[in-house]
Amino acid sequence: MKKIVFFCIPAYGHTNPTLGVVRELVAQGNKVWYYSFNQFQAAIEEAGAIFVSCDGFDQTENLSAKDGAKIAKDMAFATKVLVDTTLCLDDAIYEDLLKIKPDCIVADSMALWGKLIAKKLNTKFVSSTTTFAFNKESARIMGQSILNAAKMIISIPKINRELSRLQEKGYPVNSILEIIANDPNTDTIVYTSPEFQPCAQTFSTKYAFVGPSIRPVMQPFQKKMEKLIYISMGTVNNDLLPIYQSCIDALKRTNYQVVLSIGNQVDPKLIKNKSENISIYPSVDQIAVLQQSDLFITHCGMNSVTEALFFGVPLLMLPQTSEQLGVSRRVKQLGAGIIQKRMNAKAIYKSVETLLSSQEYYKNASKISESFQKCSGAQGAAKKILDVCDL
Ligand code: UDP
Repeated sequence: MKKIVFFCIPAYGHTNPTLGVVRELVAQGNKVWYYSFNQFQAAIEEAGAIFVSCDGFDQTENLSAKDGAKIAKDMAFATKVLVDTTLCLDDAIYEDLLKIKPDCIVADSMALWGKLIAKKLNTKFVSSTTTFAFNKESARIMGQSILNAAKMIISIPKINRELSRLQEKGYPVNSILEIIANDPNTDTIVYTSPEFQPCAQTFSTKYAFVGPSIRPVMQPFQKKMEKLIYISMGTVNNDLLPIYQSCIDALKRTNYQVVLSIGNQVDPKLIKNKSENISIYPSVDQIAVLQQSDLFITHCGMNSVTEALFFGVPLLMLPQTSEQLGVSRRVKQLGAGIIQKRMNAKAIYKSVETLLSSQEYYKNASKISESFQKCSGAQGAAKKILDVCDL
């Protein structure tokens, strides 16, 4: 029996892919602790892990909206928040971890405190990456600029001051790159296929591209018309009334069944021109709906895109962040979707018609689906972690 400790950030997109892995590890007789946040407790315990709450430690939770925006742009500030979180958690959990003596720590690539604690404990470590893996080559393909790297170099003196706070507390960290880089020597699980990952061949053999593990349907869904279009802008930044309105105006006079998941931030009463063929919900069982969809209008969150492509559904893509833009570029490159530039109803309708009437997008989405289906999945991820335990 191995003892494995997981760390994750408070986000469904980063937590969900790990739950199948936890289930697999526990089924094989291993013991798993999972350091996460209260909203995920039920799901984590249901997967079979011992849940340990980190609520109150994540310092991003205490930031004002202005400082929250600063985190994405200011590396020195982001480092300060990371160091604050790590040191705050350190007081609470370091002694416990000394007692647990984990054989391996698995941390989400954004739960950097997990990586730091593994370093301090000198414990074996696996990075868990729910987005695309990132290196120089894939960054170029994804259209990320090197400006970010330049910005980071300018802020290095400030960053070093922050890192010395970690060093004082016994963390052997010399540079910020050591913490944030997806370096070739770190054992890494990536929840996508080598075919979908840009430049997969440029990553070392320490990388395991295990593919997605799609959760089972919880609430079955009934398709009622010949074509079904599903629309969702995800669970985080979904306060996007103008986008929902344009989609409704584009699809209200069609023979398509439309399911729109708007989240909890938009009041459905504010949506105009509702029509019989369109159903609006705060949330749906996305897997159940996607399984029967002919087209998905999406913000291009990695999970949404992966789930749709798993079922061979082509995408009309409305990315809102640089990460989502990166994902949409990859889908476009592989010919499984269109990036929507103009957001008016007429332009959206035109793209919908193009996607629904061409077989090419379906063929290309099906090819990606096949690449997902032949991956090793949660079993492959569990094997990777157990192999690292035995290194
Ligand atoms: N989701 C869902 N029902 C909804 C909307 C979203 O179950 O009505 C799930 C979806 O299946 C996916 C996750 O929420 O697993 C969204 O993750 P993604 O990475 O796509 O976007 P984010 O919400 O992180 O922006």
